Amino acid sequence: MNVITAKFGGTSLADASQIKKAVKIIKDNPARKFVVASAPGKRFSDDIKITDLLYKCHAQSKNNEDFSGTLKKISDRYEEIIKELGISFDIQSEIETIKKNLPVCPTGDYPASRGEYINSKIIAKFLGWPFVDAAEIIFFDEKGILNEEKTFKTAGEKLKELNYAVIPGFYGSMPDGSIKTFSRGGSDVTGSIIARSVKADLYENWTDVSGMLSADPRIVNAPKVIEYITYTELRELSYMGASVLHEDAVFPVRKAGIPINIRNTNKPDDKGTLITASIPKNITKSPVTGIAGRKGFTSVRVEKTMMNSETGFGARLLYIFSRSGIPFEHCPSGIDTISVVVNSELFDNRREIILREIKNELNPDFITIEKNLASIAIVGEGMVSVKGMAAKIFAALAKSGINIRMIDQGSDELNIIIGIDEADYEKAVNALYKEMIS
Ligand code: ASP
Repeated sequence: MNVITAKFGGTSLADASQIKKAVKIIKDNPARKFVVASAPGKRFSDDIKITDLLYKCHAQSKNNEDFSGTLKKISDRYEEIIKELGISFDIQSEIETIKKNLPVCPTGDYPASRGEYINSKIIAKFLGWPFVDAAEIIFFDEKGILNEEKTFKTAGEKLKELNYAVIPGFYGSMPDGSIKTFSRGGSDVTGSIIARSVKADLYENWTDVSGMLSADPRIVNAPKVIEYITYTELRELSYMGASVLHEDAVFPVRKAGIPINIRNTNKPDDKGTLITASIPKNITKSPVTGIAGRKGFTSVRVEKTMMNSETGFGARLLYIFSRSGIPFEHCPSGIDTISVVVNSELFDNRREIILREIKNELNPDFITIEKNLASIAIVGEGMVSVKGMAAKIFAALAKSGINIRMIDQGSDELNIIIGIDEADYEKAVNALYKEMIS
């Protein structure tokens, strides 16, 4: 491995002892040349992230309230880190700059970005490495969309020239030079952009868990860690609620085929989860990679005799939902019935309008609304080549006395999605995990 981009999240850099762990990891492998750092996160469950304190300063300033107490909390945390790392660092001049600039900031972007800016400078000093400001290498266009071409070129050239560097996560600059942040958790995106720019062989994402879990640990007791997962499987599981990375973090590295390795700063010997375009040939893994799901769906079933011979019925039905700004999740259909499964909250806000439009425009025989549905996705690229997967799923649910309300198999055979009553959700996830994964 020649070049690794290593991104460390907020809990991995929350205080001096965590920073020391991260630095040991960096030094353990000379390929870890480009480090992307988050702002200090929570040290314990009731702690406040530096980023949240910075947003609070900005909100206080906007309301013409005194924000010096909040800024002092930020400065105290950095003071403590600096003292325990034993470095000399002029934190007061950084704090003074924020104090001066903050009252004239129209948005929270600049203040929020200072968490990663200062933390990265401190880590660079501790490592004795160059610091590169993300504002000089990550660029957005006028619309606030990442200017990929300019970013990859500038960041690639600048970083390759330095050979190793610490870069703050979470932000870049607008064409007028002002700071713009990604959405929350966006240092993951920076890590991916840097990995792509330096043509890294691997993007390591160091966090506080030993990888992505094959089911929700709040429902299943100690679910297995996923060792290998493809970008596509990750996307499916994340969409259904499993979260380990910022949603936008996959795209930059995916295009270049750079694998992502989720690792645990507190357990650096754990292998974590490797996210790749395809599963390595020499690896045998279970056909199902993970199970994830969500509650809060409503199904609107429309019945009409001879619906099948009425051209454009389904298109007109979906158009009614799209006019109300409601995306559909699933759309199972029978000969004379079609159901549209949608987010309950969105539907409830537009319920009367939608039902009226369906009646007026489609003239159906019946409309049936089923509320409080949950959907569960059983995801795995290996499922396509194994016979009897669906039978196993249905048997597991039947054995647990769970009624299936909807079935949907993605056309790529990567997943099977089932709809059930919300009340059965936890029982169903456990039954499926036991049968398909454990
Ligand atoms: N510090 C930012 C946040 O709390 C970005 C990040 O940590 O990825 O959202």
